Amino acid sequence: MRLTNYFIPTLKEIPTDAQMPSHQLMMRAGMIRPLSAGIYSLLPLGYRVWKKVMAVIREEMDAIGGMEFHLPALNPIEIWEETGRVEAFGDTMFHLKNRDYVLAPTHEEIMTSIARASIKSYKDMPQIWYQIQTKFRNEPRPKSGVIRGRQFTMKDAYSLDATREGLDESYRKHHEAYCRIYARCGLTFFVVGASSGAMGGSGSEEFMVESDAGEDLCAFNLESGYAANIEVASSKLPALERGADNPAAEKFATPTAKSIDDLVAQHGIAEERCAKSLVYFADEKPYLIFMCGNDQLNEAKLQGALGAANVRPARDEELAGLTGADAGSIGPINLKSSLPQIADLRIAHANGMVSGANENGFHYRNIDLDRDANIGVYHDLRIVAEGEPDPLGGRPLSVKKAIEVGHIFKLGTKYSQAMKANFLDEKGEEHPIIMGSYGIGVERVVACHIEQRHDADGIVWHPSIAPFHVQITSLKIESDIVRDAAEALYAALEAAKVETLFDDRAGVSPGFKFKDADLLGMPLNVIVGEKHLKDGNVEIKVRSTGERRIVPQAEAVQVCLALLDSLRS
Ligand code: ATP
Ligand code: MG
Repeated sequence: MRLTNYFIPTLKEIPTDAQMPSHQLMMRAGMIRPLSAGIYSLLPLGYRVWKKVMAVIREEMDAIGGMEFHLPALNPIEIWEETGRVEAFGDTMFHLKNRDYVLAPTHEEIMTSIARASIKSYKDMPQIWYQIQTKFRNEPRPKSGVIRGRQFTMKDAYSLDATREGLDESYRKHHEAYCRIYARCGLTFFVVGASSGAMGGSGSEEFMVESDAGEDLCAFNLESGYAANIEVASSKLPALERGADNPAAEKFATPTAKSIDDLVAQHGIAEERCAKSLVYFADEKPYLIFMCGNDQLNEAKLQGALGAANVRPARDEELAGLTGADAGSIGPINLKSSLPQIADLRIAHANGMVSGANENGFHYRNIDLDRDANIGVYHDLRIVAEGEPDPLGGRPLSVKKAIEVGHIFKLGTKYSQAMKANFLDEKGEEHPIIMGSYGIGVERVVACHIEQRHDADGIVWHPSIAPFHVQITSLKIESDIVRDAAEALYAALEAAKVETLFDDRAGVSPGFKFKDADLLGMPLNVIVGEKHLKDGNVEIKVRSTGERRIVPQAEAVQVCLALLDSLRS
């Protein structure tokens, strides 16, 4: 491709609204342009990369026996009502003015409807069905470029099996295919155990790319191999010991203590002896929750523990009505209304605790949770913190920010049951189809690639998904010797099937051309200029290492091929 005929509107300035490097660079390299918040157009250079990522995904999905579909993005709303997901998605789902239709945020329901109509027997399975399709999600604050779009492309796959073992096998195949996909796309990634929502069990993993701009936190220890999304991560912190001395609970005045830190500072109470009390609504039913000291409540764990679709903290005005006090003075004794109570495992059956008196300005000490509270069950409800012992070997956990590039999930029979997608087993008995679902965000893979592979000058593409493999930078193309040599090299590279972007612009300074080449970031830049042509040579610069080689014109193509091979491996 000749740059003079190709549309790459590069920008010199960093767009003011772009914070993440990938967002800035995709804008500056002319890959994308915003249409409105979270909605982007892919320009020719961006579109080339996008197609390459999809090609990698298709090859690996086909290799595990996946069959490609193409489902409608415009869906009748009834099909989403069958599974209750109109409500579950809430404002995230785009509804049309014509209220009979929605724009699909994912496609479990549509695939299940196809299975319901045609998968009748265990003999019809296993199946792996996938598509690469546009998804629509009304993300509240899309601000990271294509990493969180309101319209984006997802490869979504669905497995259909007759047995749990079959699902395990389909899941394993996807796990392996995903590892190959991300590796081939030049990503450094790790896999974490993830929340499987109301499904329970351990049947969900996320593929993560470490990034300071990531919205997910992951806890892991490299030695033990423990790795989990913070939503589900646990640690081996021991529970509090029960004291032998167990006097009656006693009220005391705490007029200016509004927090655990205040109780510690003003009344000399050990932080872990404070039972922090919180009121949460789970599916609009209130619960009183006790945590140890300043431990943070993990809302995803709470949701799992209560099997709730939604949880939210009580609002200030609700607190007084339910407990008799404001946040900071709530506790198990003298509650205004009887609330179901649950607590974190770290304070299971603890005594000698301090908690609010449900009266502003007062607390109780010597609380025995077994005697003075009414706790049904203890659950792991806390957010783990850096340095805590991992649950496998007790080694210290690291907590890092990451971006989720993929998610694989043993659905089980959630959708097949709701939609009555059943099959007959060998004995003629009817069962719901056992399903899995597996997603990859295509644009997110591109952006994460750039997050991991860029420097101060621009993008550093891995050859596997680079828009072009080689850029030819002609210096002073106005001179015949340069033009002839650059044209010959371009023809030879094209003949050797090396995708080449030829900077054939006249009247553009060398400095400007070098800057553009670094910004666009093709793996190799072949510089054709009078200086080296005098000796019959051109210069090849490797973008990722900065290495430069002076090679005879006649050997340039061979050297490029060899360098690209070594960059690929
Ligand atoms: P997130 O937690 O980031 O919102 P999710 O868990 O809702 O994502 P899934 O429903 O598991 O996402 O979708 C599968 C994949 O689709 C994700 O792993 C991610 O790569 C991609 N994806 C999800 N939402 C978006 C989005 N708004 N923009 C771009 N890619 C997305
Ligand atoms: Mg997910």
